[in-house]
Amino acid sequence: MSAVSNPKRTPLFRLITVASSGMGSFILGLWGLRFGFGDGLAGMSAETMAGIIAALCALSAGGAALSFFAGVDESTEYVIKETHFDKLTGLLSRPAMVGQIAAAASETIRTGEPVYLIDMDIDRFKQINDAIGYTYGDELIRAFTKRLRENMPEGAVIGRIGAGEFAVLLPDQELRGSLERFLEQFINQMMEPYQLQTHLQSVSMSVGIVAMPKDGVDPVLVLRRSNLALQNARASGIGNWSVFHADMGRVADHRQWIESELKTAFDRGDFNLHYQPQFDLPSDRIVGYEALIRWKHPERGMIPPMEFIPIAEETGMINPIGEWVLRKACSDAQYLPEDCFVAVNISPVQFMTKDFVGIVRETMASTGIKPSRLELEVTETAMMQDRDRAAVILKQLADMGISVAVDDFGTGYSNLSYLIDFSFGKLKIDRSFVSRIDTDSSSGAVVSTIVGLSRALGVGIIAEGVETENQATLLRAAGCEVVQGYLFGRPAPLKIELGQARPAHGRREPARLVSLQ
Ligand code: C2E
Ligand code: CA
Ligand code: CA
Repeated sequence: MSAVSNPKRTPLFRLITVASSGMGSFILGLWGLRFGFGDGLAGMSAETMAGIIAALCALSAGGAALSFFAGVDESTEYVIKETHFDKLTGLLSRPAMVGQIAAAASETIRTGEPVYLIDMDIDRFKQINDAIGYTYGDELIRAFTKRLRENMPEGAVIGRIGAGEFAVLLPDQELRGSLERFLEQFINQMMEPYQLQTHLQSVSMSVGIVAMPKDGVDPVLVLRRSNLALQNARASGIGNWSVFHADMGRVADHRQWIESELKTAFDRGDFNLHYQPQFDLPSDRIVGYEALIRWKHPERGMIPPMEFIPIAEETGMINPIGEWVLRKACSDAQYLPEDCFVAVNISPVQFMTKDFVGIVRETMASTGIKPSRLELEVTETAMMQDRDRAAVILKQLADMGISVAVDDFGTGYSNLSYLIDFSFGKLKIDRSFVSRIDTDSSSGAVVSTIVGLSRALGVGIIAEGVETENQATLLRAAGCEVVQGYLFGRPAPLKIELGQARPAHGRREPARLVSLQ
């Protein structure tokens, strides 16, 4: 604590306190001299007089010291404020939160009433901060905090424990309904876009929960566990939450292993691309291929992209990996039929990289691919990070003649106004709607609405994840004529035979379509 010095104690403040008490000593000294010597020692011996003067000087020096350190109480308060509260938001700091968790733990042990520790993190906050600048990053954190306070019950204790990370202690009795309902509503509220001074900023977040005392009472342990739950939620998609369970420790080890292995894998050339056909139903022909990355580890075998792409995004490895994917796909296009394009997935991190358009331009020049044969699949999340910048990037790509498909469409944002500002060529209906189209009428309605929207905007439409004839028929009836899914061909490697290459599939022959290495 002593290391913190109060900036309110300015040099001027110190000068005034020392000067005023110094002046006090001086006057006391003068008075003593006058009293002692002025009237001829007043009948006292010189030694007694000197003693009195020395005592008076000591007294005034004491006064000086006291005035110098005046407001000790205020200093303590100040130091507590410095270390217990986060400067930007006024919320509890991480160390203070640890103290609160310890207090809540003793309380829950005493009463048996469960208390939840909720750990929440703004996804990719570092990248957002880099993209919009620290001033607006701070503005975002303040706006997020305000909404967080508004959406938590009165008795919740809230702290900011990392740059974009917050922790909340929530006693069970503060919840009116179920935890599940509360979290669903809470996350939806928190993920509504934030109006900053310059633009509307969208964020997604992930939430992890532990219940005390069931999942532990040691503050460090429960914080680690809530964070494991958070990582688990993040790996399973946007705006998710998960409650801690014991397996998560193993998952965390796996994550760490992936993180440490990615660079070696990249340098060693573990990665490959598989291609999945996109089918035009009316003409019964393949119109394009989506490139999907595959990681075959020499010892552990195939590792799915959903396991390593999010980690590559967090560590920044997605930039070299994504560049490699783009280059390889553009160069592989020479082995694909002339009238087919190749669709490449672009991660939000890549899309927002400073020179993304430059990288695309350079790759096209060096591989010689025609712009009409390249399509980029970009998710809504990527576009919404910074709408103004995204609009500029999309316009540049459109000017270059490259089509952009909005990937996973329908899963991201309810606010569709952004569609008007953006230049893109296609909406890609997410698999989650397609998989339920024949069982759930609201999915059918969503699909018809998206088809209607694509027509109104004058852009193309494709559905992904088509697995059954029935789904294909319903999609076609809804007006979606281009489809992609296991029914028409699984992702498969290019087979280069006699100098000629063809993706290893034909239509509707699933046994031969799968040609995993
Ligand atoms: P995505 O872009 O939505 O890709 C479609 C995913 O659905 C692929 O999974 C594909 O194999 C799978 N799929 C295709 N048809 C069907 C079907 O009929 N049924 C089912 N159940 N699944 C189907 P995959 O290859 O595991 O990729 C998962 C995700 O990883 C992709 O989702 C994409 O977000 C990401 N990804 C894959 N390759 C790349 C890449 O090169 N770069 C980046 N940034 N992300 C990639
Ligand atoms: Ca895709
Ligand atoms: Ca998808």
